[in-house]
Amino acid sequence: MQNQKLYLYNTLTRKKELFTPLNPPFVGMYVCGPTVYNDVHLGNVRTFISFDVLFRYLKHLDYKVRYVRNITDAGHLEDDSDEDKISKRAVLERLEPMEIVQKYTVSFHEIMRIFNVLPPSIEPTATGHILEQQEMAMQILKNGWAYEVNGTVYFDVEKFAQHYDYTALTGRNLEELLNNTRELEGQDEKRGRLDFALWIKAKPQHLMQWNSPWGKGFPGWHIECSAMSTKYLGEQFDIHGGGMDLAPTHHTNEIAQNIAYCGKQPARYWLHTNMLTLNGKKMSKSLGNVVLPLELINGTNPLIPKGFSPSVIRFFMMQTHYRSTLDITLDALNAAEKGYQRLIESFELLTTLKPAESSSIDIQAFRQKCYDAMNDDLNTAVLIAELFEIAKWINKANEGQVQLSAKDIEELKKLFNDFFYEILGIPQRDANNDAVLQKLKALVEIVLEIRSEAKKNKNYTLSDAIRNKLESIGIVIKDTAEGTRWSMK
Ligand code: AMP
Ligand code: ZN
Repeated sequence: MQNQKLYLYNTLTRKKELFTPLNPPFVGMYVCGPTVYNDVHLGNVRTFISFDVLFRYLKHLDYKVRYVRNITDAGHLEDDSDEDKISKRAVLERLEPMEIVQKYTVSFHEIMRIFNVLPPSIEPTATGHILEQQEMAMQILKNGWAYEVNGTVYFDVEKFAQHYDYTALTGRNLEELLNNTRELEGQDEKRGRLDFALWIKAKPQHLMQWNSPWGKGFPGWHIECSAMSTKYLGEQFDIHGGGMDLAPTHHTNEIAQNIAYCGKQPARYWLHTNMLTLNGKKMSKSLGNVVLPLELINGTNPLIPKGFSPSVIRFFMMQTHYRSTLDITLDALNAAEKGYQRLIESFELLTTLKPAESSSIDIQAFRQKCYDAMNDDLNTAVLIAELFEIAKWINKANEGQVQLSAKDIEELKKLFNDFFYEILGIPQRDANNDAVLQKLKALVEIVLEIRSEAKKNKNYTLSDAIRNKLESIGIVIKDTAEGTRWSMK
């Protein structure tokens, strides 16, 4: 076991706390997975990459991690509607709900693979755990924390809040929360305005429905995570994570359900990632400011009209701490690309560097600084700054200003491998592809210069031929007011 003290910021206590698992070396970790009704956007990707770094780091520290990340394939209601997202999409696309689920689960896995996100240990689906969700709802009813009205089972938040701290996770004032919540309307079945459904009665035309003790229906979204985390990690486990936007409702309700079910707060450490933003606004489907991962890789999104490799995109995300917002812009991506290349080039020097008899650099001190960065609530931004610092020394060694022994050169290679590829999880396969891609990009720019020269000389036969030939190999060019742009199909 690596002797490192890892501190994590716990949303529940609003403090950085020393991470001490309940049952070391085992660690149980649950992260809310995607709702598979459309393609994941880069915001979602940021959250899954952040937890991938935690998973990777815990494994690096020799913990035996059981990482559960679910697939939400039922029960996630569309805002302000009684339709769930998957059924709604199934009607739109004229597919079976399970065809929608399959389609977007496959594409989610493909995106995770492209960004080198490790698969979790267990990836349970909501539809595969209907019974567990019903059993949990039943127990909560039996324990007196829920009530049934006309085939729907509601959690009694106000009753719960009289006995427990319902808003413990966010620290919000319950009175204010109540005041900001819509008043119940006459036809509402709920007793309290904060009450939420554990089980929802389905209308006859609803596509996804199951038999239950309360008639035909489908589970609520929150009960899914409570049931599956309890099933695979037990009533209490170490880490529960998700995006910050999930804390006030989804996670708050998960905690309430678990306490109502068995009297226990499920997770010791609650971790939340901050949002990826575009022009300062949260990237989200409902705001219509979504950039899809493949669009950014191929340079086909008009908001960021240039392609970047998955390695550069992941590196870009790692340069900001997971609890800070990250604004995605073309300039920031360009800067990340430059930095990424500089770092790779410096560390590549290690393969050609002539070893000296002895070293004038303390590699172990550098290694510990890298650990210190990760131990400080996974500060990948500081870790990358440390790697840049090390790169400076490698460049100096290359210029003969400092000495590196053969052993230390090997140590540095290992350090880079451990922190850059293994822990930050930068896709290594891209490192080679990137070098080729860089040359290809430069080549296209040369060809475009020749074309613009031809146009200047009114040689339109040549300029059109260049355009058509590029297009025939999948390189599409577009003349705009700011110059010629190109992208790969
Ligand atoms: P969903 O599929 O909507 O349930 O979201 C999957 C995960 O992505 C959740 O943990 C969300 O909190 C997270 N998420 C959604 N939008 C963003 C964003 N703009 N930036 C970072 N994470 C996000
Ligand atoms: Zn969840």
